[in-house]
Amino acid sequence: MRVSDNLRMLQDKVNVACQRSKRAPDEVKIIAVTKYVTTERALEALECGVTHLGENRDEGLLEKWNTLGDKPTWHFIGTLQTRKVKNIIDKVDYIHSLDRESLAKEIHVRAGDRTISCFVQVNASGEESKHGLTPEMVVPFIKELEKFPKIRVEGLMTMAPFTEDDAIIRQCFQTLKKLQLDIQHLNLPYAPCMELSMGMSNDFEIAIEEGATMIRIGTALVGE
Ligand SMILES: *Cc1c(COP(=O)(O)O)cnc(C)c1O
Repeated sequence: MRVSDNLRMLQDKVNVACQRSKRAPDEVKIIAVTKYVTTERALEALECGVTHLGENRDEGLLEKWNTLGDKPTWHFIGTLQTRKVKNIIDKVDYIHSLDRESLAKEIHVRAGDRTISCFVQVNASGEESKHGLTPEMVVPFIKELEKFPKIRVEGLMTMAPFTEDDAIIRQCFQTLKKLQLDIQHLNLPYAPCMELSMGMSNDFEIAIEEGATMIRIGTALVGE
């Protein structure tokens, strides 16, 4: 399938999910996750109007960045080892996987004169295999980030469990939404927390219904 056909079908489903939940379609940004595909395929996505690209490994990001440069808005969505921050920090616009203080410190130290837009990753489902803070840890963690003024918390990110049970997925997204409201009520100038990065190929419609502002789509958009 051409990316343009996938994009049209995806956008239709996004529009329907927005309608169902009385949201405006332009509230939901689509990030094309290009981790499984070639630079050519990523370029095809850009050519049909996608502007946000996501990669989960530094090698993948750097390889595509070498060709595509800063034309797309770049999202780093994978687990980030502290020692790799320096490789990607001047190439990405958003880091979706902030989940520990040592990482926050390294991002702060390497930020140069930029402010780095971050998402705090939450393990909302409690699955042991998933990265991210437990829901209880999120507010204390974000309060601690005051120490690192180069970090701006744009929002929260989560991955739902891989299950057929929509109720479990929905609950996970609802947990993230509730946490977002808790953080907004703190009125921290460095943590406006206006964004929710949630929803992938299998569950983006539920995520939109529960308030996602950025959906991260690989298979359904750039997959074959
Ligand atoms: C791979 C990946 C995605 C996209 O997954 P699909 O199911 O292919 O849409 C989204 N978010 C993260 C963090 C990923 O690693």
